[in-house]
Amino acid sequence: MTPLISYYEIETSGQVSELHLYNLSSLDNNCKITCSAGNIVGENESTVLLNILFPPNISKLSDAYQDHHWCIPFSMSGNPKPELRWLLNGEPVIEGPYIMTMIHDFSEREYHGCLQLDSPTHINNGPYTLLASNKYGQDRKTVDAHFMRNPFEGGIGGPSSTAMSFSQVYVVVGIAAVAFTGFLLMLVMLKFGGNSKFGIKGASSVISNDDDSASPLHHVSNGSNTPSSSEMGPDAVIIGMTKIPVIENPQYFRSNSMLKSDTFVQHIKRHNIVLKRELGEGAFGKVFLAECYNLSPELDKILVAVKTLKEASENARKDFHREAELLTNLQHEHIVTFYGVCVESDPLIMVFEYMKHGDLNKFLRAHGPDSVMMGDGPTNRPVELTQSQMLHIAQQIAAGMVYLASQHFVHRDLATRNCLVGENLLVKIGDFGMSRDVYSTDYYRVGGHTMLPIRWMPPESIMYRKFTTESDVWSLGVVLWEIFTYGKQPWYQLSNNEVIECITQGRVLQRPRTCPKEVYDLMLGCWQREPHMRHHIKEIHSLLLNLAKASPVYLDILG
Ligand code: AMP
Repeated sequence: MTPLISYYEIETSGQVSELHLYNLSSLDNNCKITCSAGNIVGENESTVLLNILFPPNISKLSDAYQDHHWCIPFSMSGNPKPELRWLLNGEPVIEGPYIMTMIHDFSEREYHGCLQLDSPTHINNGPYTLLASNKYGQDRKTVDAHFMRNPFEGGIGGPSSTAMSFSQVYVVVGIAAVAFTGFLLMLVMLKFGGNSKFGIKGASSVISNDDDSASPLHHVSNGSNTPSSSEMGPDAVIIGMTKIPVIENPQYFRSNSMLKSDTFVQHIKRHNIVLKRELGEGAFGKVFLAECYNLSPELDKILVAVKTLKEASENARKDFHREAELLTNLQHEHIVTFYGVCVESDPLIMVFEYMKHGDLNKFLRAHGPDSVMMGDGPTNRPVELTQSQMLHIAQQIAAGMVYLASQHFVHRDLATRNCLVGENLLVKIGDFGMSRDVYSTDYYRVGGHTMLPIRWMPPESIMYRKFTTESDVWSLGVVLWEIFTYGKQPWYQLSNNEVIECITQGRVLQRPRTCPKEVYDLMLGCWQREPHMRHHIKEIHSLLLNLAKASPVYLDILG
């Protein structure tokens, strides 16, 4: 374990020495303190382990989800181990074989577990409060859980439906008639309106290479220039003086080379995946830490991150399979490893390598001056990132981007929220456009469901929806800025409309306080207005690599 103790004093009087440690936190628990003494005839040493006592802290209590049982997941810490009690609607929950608290995991000095419920019904719906206490204090958090609709409450099909009045019957018949007419109209439009919006909606979340008709994304993937006004058509909105095209989903350009016909996607059996706890939530569904059995011949089980697909419509399923093929073909040390899919039953699951420290944006914030100063609760005392560590992070992302460019793959949504951090400050590009819910303020909604990461986009992507390796280079410059500001949101002081005005008028982000001149020059090289004037991705990588080598990283600071 890496000692985190920052300040100590040794007081010696005669034969007795005392070691005084200050500013300890729970992170120092189990640190080894070794006392060595020596003289001319030899030396001796003795070691003790630190045992730091602190009050409970519930860091997470989230929405219930269903695995083999229902689970209300929580994470908490405290020493001695806190006692846990649950309240439902303010009344104590009596635990037994059908409802019980389970601790699945003790890692990163936190206990992770579930209130596990076996076949809960509507009676179990309501606000659940978790109370954690030990002799140093207590903490509480509440979450609403909804397992099942009350079958005896209104609605057609419930017992009350037998008492449906005639007026209710008329309403139902009326709605059915309107719906049927609508359906007929839709059929007619589909038949005669070949160039209508339906095709565009069909573009959904993954760009199809063979779907060459109405998808606005397709023009981008062909690398075309400014679209004609008919292409912009109804898929554009006017903001201030700028016309912004509407893009169904700011995901990737899938080049032909990535979607090989002979791609073999590994299938993993459902019984080989054991969920442990929730890691986060993306636009497509929840992400869980899980154990995966029989994945590699050397290891019985390994920790993985599984992404679930919450909406399993026909289109979503197609997208899912395409995404899986694409991910299977992307293999690089700085791209998160994709192990395979599990499609035996719902929800559909994608299995990825587990990156212990989660997404890079949260990681940067947790290791920035604000977090260090405020000390995020009594249980966490983060260590501020050094400049050389920042360079090390940046260099790894650039390496991943060199690889993507070599595969003619345009990311379109490169940002620190889409990178992951593993052990020993290993960083990989990890997300494929799924972090939209959590970071919704990073995206700009232009019509219905369309979200654009405008703060990371160059003028030509904002104005003409042109996405290329050069627009990825622009985003990489913004990622460098994020790293050197410890995860600040680009243009955080401006509204989305102001950001669009700023970028299209040619303004660029200011040099962060802690950023060396060489690195800011590199950012400016990424933010040249003319795409062909921007640095080449390989050039950026080798510059960052040289800068990182010039200031070696002391990795062990982060453990
Ligand atoms: P996403 O759906 O990819 O946006 O993921 C949502 C959140 O889950 C991220 O912000 C991460 O904190 C976490 N997460 C996603 N993938 C992984 C992974 N491979 N390892 C660890 N945490 C992950």
